[in-house]
Amino acid sequence: MTDNFTYHSRKNVFYVILGIVFIVFFVRLIQLQFLYSEKYGKMSAENAIRNVAVAPLRGYMYDRNGILVVDNRPAYNVTVTPVEFENKNLELLTEILKMEKEEVLERIEKGKKYNRFSPVKIKRDVDFQTLSFVEEYSGQLKGIEYQFEPKRYYPTKAHGSHLVGYIKEITESQLQKLGDFYRQGDIIGASGLEAGYEKYLRGKKGFELITVDAEGKIIGNFNDGKSDIQPVEGDDLELTLDIKVQALAESLLSDKRGAVVAIDPTDGGIIALVSKPDFNPELLSGVTPFSVWQQLNTDPAKPLFNRATLTKYPPGSTFKMLLALAALQEGIIDENWRVNCRGSFTFGNKVFKDMHVHGSTNVVEAIQRSCNVFFYQLMLKTGLPTWTKYGKQFGFGAPTGIDILEENSGLLPSEEYYNRRYGKGRWTQGYLVSLGIGQGELGVSPLQLAAYAMALANEGKYYKPHVVDKIKEKESKKIIKVEPVMRQINLKNEVWNAVREGLYRAVNVAGGTGAAARVPGINVAGKTGTAQNPHGKDHAWFIGFAPYENPKIAICVLVENVGYGGVFAAPIAGLCIEQFLYGEIIRNKLNQPKIILTKTEAEQIRD
Ligand SMILES: [Zn+2]
Repeated sequence: MTDNFTYHSRKNVFYVILGIVFIVFFVRLIQLQFLYSEKYGKMSAENAIRNVAVAPLRGYMYDRNGILVVDNRPAYNVTVTPVEFENKNLELLTEILKMEKEEVLERIEKGKKYNRFSPVKIKRDVDFQTLSFVEEYSGQLKGIEYQFEPKRYYPTKAHGSHLVGYIKEITESQLQKLGDFYRQGDIIGASGLEAGYEKYLRGKKGFELITVDAEGKIIGNFNDGKSDIQPVEGDDLELTLDIKVQALAESLLSDKRGAVVAIDPTDGGIIALVSKPDFNPELLSGVTPFSVWQQLNTDPAKPLFNRATLTKYPPGSTFKMLLALAALQEGIIDENWRVNCRGSFTFGNKVFKDMHVHGSTNVVEAIQRSCNVFFYQLMLKTGLPTWTKYGKQFGFGAPTGIDILEENSGLLPSEEYYNRRYGKGRWTQGYLVSLGIGQGELGVSPLQLAAYAMALANEGKYYKPHVVDKIKEKESKKIIKVEPVMRQINLKNEVWNAVREGLYRAVNVAGGTGAAARVPGINVAGKTGTAQNPHGKDHAWFIGFAPYENPKIAICVLVENVGYGGVFAAPIAGLCIEQFLYGEIIRNKLNQPKIILTKTEAEQIRD
């Protein structure tokens, strides 16, 4: 009920404003007709009909609970009809619009090439003062009008900038490629969902035939508007997104570099996709001032770069489960196979480190405590071809196919890769040891790791990640459900059970490295990772899912250059899981600390 109410009342506000706009226009038209009909009546032979495109409302976007996340608000553009424009007015126009003469002229020239009778957008989203000036000087400024056009507006606390994407004015080369629908000055989706679903969101343009007099002033609608074509609103998107989880994850990463990706393991729907630092998408809604572009493009923190889908970092220990699954499934080891960890492993003349002396360790304990020595040895025992084969099954080294277009394949090393890179016979088993703990040349994105966490939660049901759940077609009123795409990774039950038990223990049993991801009243399972990198401190990782018994959310958290995953990434995952499953942060109510971990526990975490 509440959601419905919000939906309708928001829409009503929009239409009320739209209504006021039409009344203003209508009054002006009548005014013009009365004032000028006598004066210009005789000149009617010189009247002309002008074809003016009417921008449709771009489709709205709603989150999984019906909350409006991408809205439209009214805005005004100042336009010039090239054939009517007089150069003597250039000075006054540039003064009113606060623009450079060259820019105004360039826009008019471009428009002229297309159609000199059709109004060209000179400035978008002008303020009220500018509008009043245009109105005040309307007697003098021949061929200059203002025009209503909806603008994107984001009503929630979340930015969602890398997920929702942004829109921009169409470029010359796009115009040539995309053909009939678009005209110079039109808006087009440039990234994220805005780009991926452009053909649904854009709607259909309307056209008004307007009669103008010899002075270029509007006399009225041709044929009483009967020949006009009404615009059709763009289709709405119902997303799998939970905007509250998105907003929380954004705030938890607010002063950091990193990413959070949360997926619904029952269908692959994206619950949250955060990349930080980000930007306010409203800044890029239409024509972006050069200074804003320059600032976003030269910022060393790269706010435009989507860390959730485009990074390819080593995943560290979060990759250990993959090796465990491969070795167990292939019968290379069983659950009773043990390694005696003495805190390091020597292979050839190289010493590979561990964080603790773990003693006698089996596969479940090795996941729980994140024992490196166990996995160094297991990697050598399993071998590269098997490891690569399972890596491929879990989607590494390839795009996931998510519906926001921008993503990286990452890098899953194989024998061919090493042969190509170093030459056949020029690389040794020593190259493989660190792959066992998710280091070396392996590169993954947070999205790929979240999808892998989903498959672990699901015992092999690997859904293609997607953000759009339903498309509500405006013209046909049909609702198109986006059917989940799933493939099954077939492993023996006892193999899944062993690995999932390791993940449960990592969070819930003493000595586990993921204790900071605990959530009151819910069993969380997961794995920490701490990835070395050449650019400063280690990257912190955590992947997990909850509830353990019946998973409803799988998650991956990356925080760059901070240290241990168990200290910096796991608490963020816990809070996001809590927000999703309870709809709020319940530990505040229960008077529990923000991070459910004692200082001593935290000090013992070394992964
Ligand atoms: Zn160990």
